[in-house]
Amino acid sequence: MHSISRRSFVAGSLATAGAAVLSRSGAASAPSTQGGSTQLTQFDYGAVQLLEGPLLEQFRANHAYFFALDEDSLLKPFRQKAGLSAPGEDMGGWYSWSDEFDPPNNMTGYVPGHSFGQYVSGLARAYAATGDRPTQAKVHRLVEGFAAAISAKFYADYPLPAYTFDKSNCGLIDAHQFAQDSDALPALARLTDAVLPYLPPKALTRPEMAARPHPNVAYTWDESYTLPENLFLAYQRSGDKRYLFLAQRFLQDQDYFDPLAAGDNALPGRHAYSHVNALSSAAQAYLVLGSEKHLRAARNGFGFVVAQSFATGGWGPNETFCEPGSGVLGQSLGSTHASFETPCGAYGHFKIARYLLRITGDSRYGDSMEKVLYNTVLGAKPLQPGGFAFYYSDYNNRGAKVYYPERWPCCSGTFPQITADYGISSYFRSLSSIYVNLFVPSRLQWRQNGARFALEQRTQYPYASGVEVRIEAERPETFVIALRVPAWAGKSSSVSLNGRSVAADLQPGAFLPLRREWKDGDRIEYSLDRTLRLEAVDAQHPDTAALLSGPLTLFAINATESRFTQAQLLAAKQVGAPAAQWRVESESAPVTFLAFPSIEDQQYRLYHELQS
Ligand SMILES: [Zn+2]
Repeated sequence: MHSISRRSFVAGSLATAGAAVLSRSGAASAPSTQGGSTQLTQFDYGAVQLLEGPLLEQFRANHAYFFALDEDSLLKPFRQKAGLSAPGEDMGGWYSWSDEFDPPNNMTGYVPGHSFGQYVSGLARAYAATGDRPTQAKVHRLVEGFAAAISAKFYADYPLPAYTFDKSNCGLIDAHQFAQDSDALPALARLTDAVLPYLPPKALTRPEMAARPHPNVAYTWDESYTLPENLFLAYQRSGDKRYLFLAQRFLQDQDYFDPLAAGDNALPGRHAYSHVNALSSAAQAYLVLGSEKHLRAARNGFGFVVAQSFATGGWGPNETFCEPGSGVLGQSLGSTHASFETPCGAYGHFKIARYLLRITGDSRYGDSMEKVLYNTVLGAKPLQPGGFAFYYSDYNNRGAKVYYPERWPCCSGTFPQITADYGISSYFRSLSSIYVNLFVPSRLQWRQNGARFALEQRTQYPYASGVEVRIEAERPETFVIALRVPAWAGKSSSVSLNGRSVAADLQPGAFLPLRREWKDGDRIEYSLDRTLRLEAVDAQHPDTAALLSGPLTLFAINATESRFTQAQLLAAKQVGAPAAQWRVESESAPVTFLAFPSIEDQQYRLYHELQS
């Protein structure tokens, strides 16, 4: 099976980790604010504009959805607990207080107000990306209403205080940073006072929570180990050292980051999304404290996740990481429909991949990001009125797209955040280089040596091979434009400049640096060889394989019983225009294959038992 890319990725990151362990034997991570360095930096949200295409469509839909939400309803759970007048309809589902709550049987009323901060964050980032003033005004009104309702009573008898505080924190620091809300940081200071008596002394594992007295099982599901990322950001954005100390207090070193940093796979059995999310706390510990141990933990942890991913880039069937070598991924194809927690998982995956891409400059983090983009979150069904959200991607052999039955789940909160982040995930820079990470219709504007530059991508990638990049320049300047060459890229990938072929060595799994004096009107034509390949679900099921074209996994439509040979799958023909369909011959009839975003309500199948 052709599963080289992800296997070598893991081996690569572990080899690097081993070297780092040797050179820093036993060095204690003394508290320090000597931050870690990065190879690349991120652009501001406003520097990247998405152009017409599926990413812009999804971003716009989420922006419009949350812009239209009733503010009294959003604020209601907080006002109720503070004893304030609380007009507006209940949102219902996970979001509103309910006497029905009876975990795990009835999840109505699970974590009232949990996603408020994520909706504010998504709107603040959407404002930063678009400059839409009414969106900024809505963020300010929501923060004002929230600030007036802050009360310690909110967290009393609340099953997941850390979980909801983390999201509220994120919303407030994003309102401050991206929507210039001067009320946000003072509100965060009071919110922190309110929650502190209800937070544990340190980050707790689920077994540790289960060992404490708990009124019901939901109290054993809190995610205090995810707190540091946003606390480090709160420190950076406010300068208040209280957040720095709190961030360090909740780093889950003993049970999670120490073993990961030592190269031990600490993932099996753990809740999937929240532990990928926690890797971003380790990345922040490196960025803020300069802690090499936490960088090793983040890199190794990410490598272990990729090693137990589906061909789509998704991971964690039934929201749980599995034991390597157990064959659990392959077994899950017949036993669960909860294959990958999609908006949350993709959001967590994008964050840690973006941190690691910035820190290491390794383009394979970008490969991983685009796999998750095209095969998971870009195919998430749009939010429906009333908070019905797409939650699990389904890789069952009888797969289908469905909505989560409970309203306003976690995935309704991360969805607007990740779609607002599409632009800043697409490009990065260093002093002398611009990095094109995602090949999406978009426009980047920046200054190079003081001169105004813009770069515009036009493409139907990954449904077509070609990516056109046009440069606009105030005056010529010499620098590098670096194109990501995915690890899967075939030998006939090519680059031309202003119509002339560039004799460049395209190394799959690296950035291709194009250094020259860039002038107004320069045009790059990049063609990616998307040779079809197969990838086995895991080592225990070597004959259970998915078909891939470039970053896309292809799903057989309405063909649950179809049998294919390796040769039939690899002879798939892309048909139609724009060519988003593939046709595969089988013993019986030809079968249509679609990428995940093209699937609507059909039944589909990702993995096939290869026939000899
Ligand atoms: Zn979720």
